[in-house]
Amino acid sequence: MAKASTAEFGVDAALDAAIAAAAGHVRGARHVVALTGAGLSVESGIPPFRGPGGLWTRYGEPPMDGYQRFLRDPRAAWQERLHPKAAWARALREALAAAKPNAGHLALAELERLGCCAALITQNVDDLHRQAGSRNLLEIHGNHRLLRCVECTARFAPEQIAVDPDDLPPRCPRCDGIVKDDTVHFGEPIPPDVLRRCYEEVGRADCMLVVGTSATVYPAAEFPLEMVRRGGCLIEINPDDTELTPAASLSLRGPGGDILERLLQHAVQAPEGSTR
Ligand code: NAD
Ligand code: ZN
Repeated sequence: MAKASTAEFGVDAALDAAIAAAAGHVRGARHVVALTGAGLSVESGIPPFRGPGGLWTRYGEPPMDGYQRFLRDPRAAWQERLHPKAAWARALREALAAAKPNAGHLALAELERLGCCAALITQNVDDLHRQAGSRNLLEIHGNHRLLRCVECTARFAPEQIAVDPDDLPPRCPRCDGIVKDDTVHFGEPIPPDVLRRCYEEVGRADCMLVVGTSATVYPAAEFPLEMVRRGGCLIEINPDDTELTPAASLSLRGPGGDILERLLQHAVQAPEGSTR
């Protein structure tokens, strides 16, 4: 293995100092909320939508009225779900089926166990935060493993709903409403129960860890800015600059798995004085 140059060492030492400072903020804050996006799951083998290697970069943007299409013809939408024709949907499905939580998902779950992450809001649908053990998890774009009634918003595990390919769409056992997948489609409102809890958590946050999101999709992109306006500390973890970068107190440049693992180590080792 090639030895790191002095310049690289200097860069890593500066990054490590910034990570240590971030860990100090996380330990000292009253209410830390994490917000994650597709970038955190890149190291688990799930491509993001945008940017190099992104699904849309490779396959083109899908129609932006997926929810309206579902409501117009739920039967056709279910048939597409059972047998996806769109290449990007097939690629995403294969990646989701194979993915396992990475060091970043595990570090966030551990920070929660340590009392250093009160809530985790994710835009990801991949289920990896649940698999990693995060408990107070708000999946604003849903979870690809679950189904949801469009009328009463009840969520169901797939085994709770009988899906008969000859009698689509399936119906809600509670209210007979149409059942769709829990994933929030383009053009679909965020389920109000989750959104309300997000606003509650963001309203209490004095520190936010924003990891692997381009911060272009609303309302999630608004959460950190709302907290910063109240004087909270925004810590961004992303290999690249984003639209949130100018508002961040600390920008930790690098992959989410590596940086969060190091942040966790610093948080565990932080002197007693910096704990709550
Ligand atoms: P995005 O695709 O718009 O942006 C991804 C961001 O992650 C970029 O800023 C990029 O610089 C950064 N990134 C790339 N590699 C990274 C790494 N190793 N570590 C940390 N950051 C890295 O993603 P978004 O902002 O989450 O918005 C896209 C929408 O697409 C989301 O709402 C989500 O629902 C959906 N989506 C979800 C998944 C998933 O569940 N894993 C995958 C693709 C898309
Ligand atoms: Zn229902």
